[in-house]
Amino acid sequence: MPIAPETVSRVEWLGLTSQQFGAYIAGFGLPAYRGRQIFQALHRRFVTSVEAIHELPQGVRTALAAEADLEPLRPVQVFEAADGTRRYLFTVRGGHAVETVWIPDGRRVTLCLSSQAGCPMGCAFCATATLGLQRNLTAGEIVAQVLYVLRDTGRRPGPAQSANVNVVLMGMGEPLLNYSHVMQALRVMADPFGLHIVPRRVTLSTVGIVPKIIALGRETDRPHLAVSLTAATDALRNRLMPVNLTYPLAALQQACLAFPRHSGEYITFEYVLLDGINDSEADARALLRWLSPLRARNAAKINLIPYNPAPGIPFRPSPPERIAHFQAVLRAKGVPTYLRRPRGRDIFAACGMLAATAGPTTTCCPTGQPKLT
Ligand code: SF4
Repeated sequence: MPIAPETVSRVEWLGLTSQQFGAYIAGFGLPAYRGRQIFQALHRRFVTSVEAIHELPQGVRTALAAEADLEPLRPVQVFEAADGTRRYLFTVRGGHAVETVWIPDGRRVTLCLSSQAGCPMGCAFCATATLGLQRNLTAGEIVAQVLYVLRDTGRRPGPAQSANVNVVLMGMGEPLLNYSHVMQALRVMADPFGLHIVPRRVTLSTVGIVPKIIALGRETDRPHLAVSLTAATDALRNRLMPVNLTYPLAALQQACLAFPRHSGEYITFEYVLLDGINDSEADARALLRWLSPLRARNAAKINLIPYNPAPGIPFRPSPPERIAHFQAVLRAKGVPTYLRRPRGRDIFAACGMLAATAGPTTTCCPTGQPKLT
């Protein structure tokens, strides 16, 4: 269950929307326009110190400097793959490691964010699971991942540019177990005075925390929903994903059926293919059966994710011909089924390989994979 974030002694500026920041700054006797100046400096110019906000009089900068927490992430190392994917290893307060992955694709880019340090979900095929949960990230720590990577890669935010930036919550952790901080981070990212990365550019991937899926469906502005499935029978899913013992497939299916979708919106179901475990034709047909009520509502698409081997995890990737057959079985029944191309494997930035090490090993949630083939 969620662990409260560590108490922070200074207000986490990066976790406040422009409106919240205006209210906060009013407490110092400053007018609202000063709040907006500071917010824009942080989220548009990516300044990392109050001293660099030159719009403010020196006296104000000096007074505010002691209040600010503008660098909640400590960069440790950046790994760059041959395909341009970059994996960023940070530490957060308490010394816990978290990782963020930058996945360029022409003019577009996908940012894969972490929502927790470590992860409590214990998926059998995941390197991150070996860490256990260390703590939830704060909203400021989640937003700071975006700010740091955009600054490092020379991107500038704003409505035009942000249209080319997609965000996926598929890094370390289960985002729905850090619900309030994740939703607050999304509000900050969507702020039109800052990054303006709106929820329709964001996909949240969950292993299936049913009550929180229901809560997410009630949000006015919410990200797209992706569900890590990986097995379509309770017997197998119990073994691979212990969350299924609490929220079995029938409950997950009901939550997905009840999830209110926008016109033309799908729920994405992610399926990690493991050699000899869940990749047979019978497994594909079990998946079709489970999806049947969702397919009847045109509500589901499938992302097949070739397993990324990680040190110490006893699974192998499925052979390409079996993956192709699995996909063909689904497509023959009209299910939109896409095969994800692993990105950043040579720097261990692909899904399931994030394990918070400074060496070439990193952990994205393997059940999510942000890049289409
Ligand atoms: S697959 Fe995702 S949810 Fe499961 S243990 Fe790994 S990081 Fe956590």
